[in-house]
Amino acid sequence: MTRLQVDGVTVELPAGATLLDAARAAGAELPTLCHDDRLRPAGSCRTCLVHADGRTVAACVTPAEPGTAVDTVGEEVRELRRDAVALIASALPPRALADDSPSELAEACHESGIDPTDSGAAPPRGSDESHPYVHLDRDLCIACGRCVRMCADVQGTFALTLTGRGADTVVAPGTGGPWAASDCVACGGCVDTCPTGAITQPGPGRGLTSRRADPDRVRTTCGYCGVGCALDVVVRDERVAAVLPARDGPVNRGHACVKGRFSYGYLTSAERLTEPLVRRGGVLTPASWDEAIAVVAEGLRAAVGHGGPDAVAAISSARATNEENYLVQKFLRTVIGTNNVDNCSRLCHAPSAAGLTASFGRAGGTDSFDDVETADCLLVVGANPVEAHPVVGARLLQRALAGATLVVADPRNVGLARHADVRLRPRPGTNVALFHGLAHVLVDERLVDPDFLRDRATGLDELTELLADYPPERVAGITGVPADDIRRAARLYGRAERPAVLYGLGVTEHLHGTDGVRTLANLPILRGAVGGTGHGFGISPLRGQNNVQGASDMGALPDLLPGYGHVTDPEARDRAEAVWGRPVPPTPGLRIPEMFEAAREGRLRALWIIGEDVCATDPDSRRVAEALDACPLVVVDELFLSGTARHADVVLPVASWLEKDGTFVNFDRRFQRVRAAVRPPGTARTDFEVVHAVATATGADLGCPTPADALAECGRVAPVFAGLSHARLDREGAVPWPCPSPDRPGEATLYAREFATPDGRAHLSAAPYLPPGEEPDADYPLLLVTGRRWAHYNSGSMTRRGGNLLLDTRGRLDLHPEDAVRYGVRDGAPVVVDSRHGQARLIARVGADLAPGQVFCAFHFPDEGVNSLTSEHADTVTSCPEYKVTAVRVRPTASDD
Ligand code: SF4
Repeated sequence: MTRLQVDGVTVELPAGATLLDAARAAGAELPTLCHDDRLRPAGSCRTCLVHADGRTVAACVTPAEPGTAVDTVGEEVRELRRDAVALIASALPPRALADDSPSELAEACHESGIDPTDSGAAPPRGSDESHPYVHLDRDLCIACGRCVRMCADVQGTFALTLTGRGADTVVAPGTGGPWAASDCVACGGCVDTCPTGAITQPGPGRGLTSRRADPDRVRTTCGYCGVGCALDVVVRDERVAAVLPARDGPVNRGHACVKGRFSYGYLTSAERLTEPLVRRGGVLTPASWDEAIAVVAEGLRAAVGHGGPDAVAAISSARATNEENYLVQKFLRTVIGTNNVDNCSRLCHAPSAAGLTASFGRAGGTDSFDDVETADCLLVVGANPVEAHPVVGARLLQRALAGATLVVADPRNVGLARHADVRLRPRPGTNVALFHGLAHVLVDERLVDPDFLRDRATGLDELTELLADYPPERVAGITGVPADDIRRAARLYGRAERPAVLYGLGVTEHLHGTDGVRTLANLPILRGAVGGTGHGFGISPLRGQNNVQGASDMGALPDLLPGYGHVTDPEARDRAEAVWGRPVPPTPGLRIPEMFEAAREGRLRALWIIGEDVCATDPDSRRVAEALDACPLVVVDELFLSGTARHADVVLPVASWLEKDGTFVNFDRRFQRVRAAVRPPGTARTDFEVVHAVATATGADLGCPTPADALAECGRVAPVFAGLSHARLDREGAVPWPCPSPDRPGEATLYAREFATPDGRAHLSAAPYLPPGEEPDADYPLLLVTGRRWAHYNSGSMTRRGGNLLLDTRGRLDLHPEDAVRYGVRDGAPVVVDSRHGQARLIARVGADLAPGQVFCAFHFPDEGVNSLTSEHADTVTSCPEYKVTAVRVRPTASDD
């Protein structure tokens, strides 16, 4: 610790602190117009001048030395600071310092007694209002560079620069031209850091930043991706005025992305459902809640009467809260009497749950992201976090720019790949061979941890025997990855002191996705880089939807109860039955694809779908629609009349994540609170209220009347959650599970003593490489990979209803220039994509991000039909669809209608 005096007050600070830290610790407030704690200090504006042992220095860049005497209050030094602020303000028009301006500069002027009428000499420089979320008023720019540093150092986009000379220096997009046409990804970092209001968000949120903690802001957790950013919602006139990144957010630390930060326009969309709809005479017509709930209850009774409890099923929601998921599965199990409940992790990370459980014993990542981020080698596989998990992508990029080696394995040249030390581009569907190739090198070159393998792992002999068949040269033939690159990547991972593996859906959404997870998990086991050994940070899945981890944790799965007790395990059932007072069915229920199959075959007679647009997001969507049409009762909880809702018999309008209370679990197993900032529109209710209402209408009482009660009850069913409560999360912010006791912290790092497998050991997998379900042929010569684009999310139901639509207006098909020539496709022109299953219409985007023979698109625009292309091939262990490998052909078309 460093001890020094500030204005006569003794302060103690950790090593590396600055005089600004010291001044703040002593309670002094200094203007800091070029400084933001999230950025490297610049020391250029001189507004934080102090006297240190008689010298005049900028506090933000001056190290705190032991014994220094700092003066922040003397007349002379205050005058120096006032002059520095006044000089900066003098170049700006008076509106920069208006009384109602919340900017740092205006505040500094007011506190220093600087008169706004003194300012305003500079000639006007104009504005840029081309972007839906970021407006630039050049006249207010003081060229402090905070926005430029935020864009480069925190976001890693490098979209901004300072142009001009001297007093004419001003921020501008690095590409020149309007902001809307720049590389900006609208993370909002520049808006949040700008000290003058030169860069602002238009509308009622103009000028609001995360700088001041304001008690009337509502702290919640982002409802888009699984990163779990903490956000502060500002409400004006009962509407969301701004969503600001929380500077003390445990994962995001004052950052966010275009979705969480800006994409809330959907809340007030005229298309929001505000009253229930019931199908009458073949047409969905408005109904009261009492009528709609009565129809649902009667339909459920009829289904059970006709086919027994297993004629009913529910698809719960990875978008919904933990408490809602808990209640849905409890309703199905205890009121209906079936285990037919599943959630969309079936379509994304079910192989993670199965694979990580088989390898280590628990269905989540092995380490906290805070640890992963300190790794000296990052192996990122089958993921594009820069677009799909932007805040994690930004933090990984920061780590790589700070010197960690980076290996990226993905068929596409994804954002992080551009900064990678080694880029591996395996053919889609060949992951298992690639992972075995890497493992072969680790074993062959003795880059393994023999003590760890002897003491804490099992399966080495079988794996070693198998790896003999996977030398890099053979793996190169299967994957298309050069053998030397496999060796280089394995050596970087194998020789690192603290390596970490992160992966995404490019590993799981395959015919052999669970094998992919397990054989990837072989690498940290071989290396002894898992289980709190201090030699690395295991393996972490980047979860897709905001609460896909939590939906599964809560037991919205056909074979697993809350906390992952198996329904076939009498002990797990006993525990749940003791709490619920009702029997739990002992046989696993239907998975989502099996639900559709049962509906088509007439075995399933009632399907309740909560917040999922399965007609847009599930594979082979034509067959999904057939299933819904064949099912006598389809109930859909939704925000909008989605493609799925159009097939429903009852549509129930529900609240979104900004309109409800509860908790989510993020990708590294942290529980965080979700809080209602605004009321849902019309008569819309939360899913929590809806499940209660349906249960009541069927004559049942589910208990746990509030979300807080539901989480508390879940803790009694599942010991791993017993230490969690809303009250604790309100106090502590985020708590990871396992958390078996209220007086113990959650376990951020798993398996420090032993693995949670039956024998306490990590299990190596010797699964051989097997080819994907689809291969290209003469009729369908291209391989289609699907994924996400940065501005949109999933089926796009929320992001297409607001400014994000202006950032990315429609679906595009990425293809290589050689393929564009071969198939007569022009960049920007409409194309038809055919597979063995369906057809999609997209706009071609020609570029070298993909290898020849591969194409890529997202499914954010359901009308374009992307998921009619994908097949019913699915992971052989978990039924997770093979979204990442579909054989297609492409042809130009005259019209994009
Ligand atoms: Fe929300 Fe994910 Fe963006 Fe964070 S990174 S703001 S959690 S969508």
